Amino acid sequence: MNSVLQHDLNNFENILEKTKQQGIDFLNNLENIPTSNKNSIDHSRELNELGLGSLAALEEFNERLAPLMVASSGPRYWGFVTGGSTPASIVGDWLTSIYDQNTQAVKAQGGVSALIEFETINLLLQLLELPKSFLGGFVTGATMSNFTCLGVARQWFGKQSGKDFAKNGITETINIFSATPHSSSIKTLSMLGIGSQNYTVIQTMAGNREAINVTDLEENIKNLSGKPFILISSAATVNTADFDDFVAISKLREKYKFWWHIDAAFGGFAAVSDKYKHLVKGWEGADSITIDCHKWLNVPYESAFYLIKEQHTALQIETFQNSNAPYLGNPLENFNYLNVLPENSRRLRALPVWFSLLAYGKEGFRDIVENNITLALHFGNALIEDESFELLAPIRLNNVCFTLKGDYNQEKVAQFLSELNDTGKVFMTPTVYQNKKGIRASFVNWRTTEEDIIIVIKEMKEVFSNV
Ligand SMILES: *Cc1c(COP(=O)(O)O)cnc(C)c1O
Repeated sequence: MNSVLQHDLNNFENILEKTKQQGIDFLNNLENIPTSNKNSIDHSRELNELGLGSLAALEEFNERLAPLMVASSGPRYWGFVTGGSTPASIVGDWLTSIYDQNTQAVKAQGGVSALIEFETINLLLQLLELPKSFLGGFVTGATMSNFTCLGVARQWFGKQSGKDFAKNGITETINIFSATPHSSSIKTLSMLGIGSQNYTVIQTMAGNREAINVTDLEENIKNLSGKPFILISSAATVNTADFDDFVAISKLREKYKFWWHIDAAFGGFAAVSDKYKHLVKGWEGADSITIDCHKWLNVPYESAFYLIKEQHTALQIETFQNSNAPYLGNPLENFNYLNVLPENSRRLRALPVWFSLLAYGKEGFRDIVENNITLALHFGNALIEDESFELLAPIRLNNVCFTLKGDYNQEKVAQFLSELNDTGKVFMTPTVYQNKKGIRASFVNWRTTEEDIIIVIKEMKEVFSNV
């Protein structure tokens, strides 16, 4: 063994001890760490011939890179839809690296990791009150989950006219309907060879809504004269957290033939709250659902899962079968994750979620979700009370979409937001909603409190008075 590696091997305990202490220091100080950082690095560093060893590498990391880390997992990072990491999720994440299992086949050496993944999906179905007719697996994010689900939908579409798109490529136009799809679904259409422009935009409901207009959807279905289609529906949209009407869509299932996909990356967690679960009523009727864990479940990146109805497993295997490896056996008999999703080798990605669910239970996640929604409402009220801001849409869940009050202030929105983010006290993202420049604050972090709202409103007033 190379002497540096040997030295590291002998020194494992000390190395991990130092790393642990650094983790504690960071996490205990998270709310004081800036949410943005303008400094940068010269990333042309040359590779050394002789290794430094872990501790010297850690020193260099601490000198050059650690100071640039932002508190994106902290309580006032409200940009995009960004979760944090609970203690239990970090335990699971660390142990995933330490045990370093390759999560593929159930009946292989180390098959327990695939069984842990089954168990975790089963726990998630209970959390979200979804039926066991869904099978699921872990991927890196909602984008890959949408890709997995829509990949199977593509295969289903071909099958309706006896075609096998997975084997022969796409040989006909695939009909896809959606009202306000997330950008990652559009990207998925591009990755799947369907084409990012090749979908029909269905109208949204009247009023200040992003949800699909089911009457317009049915008009479009009728124009297909019985041909199949894929519906990409939302739970929820990122700008205004609007939900499509899943009860109404379920009714359409009785009359028409379609693959129903729901992108529930963050909004699916409405299901854990008695107050908000009506928003996803009827979603169990879908063929496939996308849910992110690195958002509202507050586990570290990269964690999301797909749910696809068990009746579609054969189509799923046709789509993802790693067919060049016959020694892997009959894919239906010998279940192997590499035959049902994009990756082959995979870490034990379910473990942080497994730990989180056991550690905090249903009530823990109900509390996180309901607290975040209450905070979104309080932040919204504070904005309404302040004469400088106005909401662009009602607050339906955890996202607040607002802007500077008055059309004359539209050109100041970008400057205001950039100066606000530069304070490092809070981070939000720009958006455009109904042709107006706006700002979006999304509440998904388990650590956020009322105190944070007070801090942010104070910063916002100060920045506004200077732009
Ligand atoms: C965040 C998000 C995605 C993309 O998720 P990644 O985890 O970044 O891949 C897709 N759909 C919705 C509704 C989202 O909020």
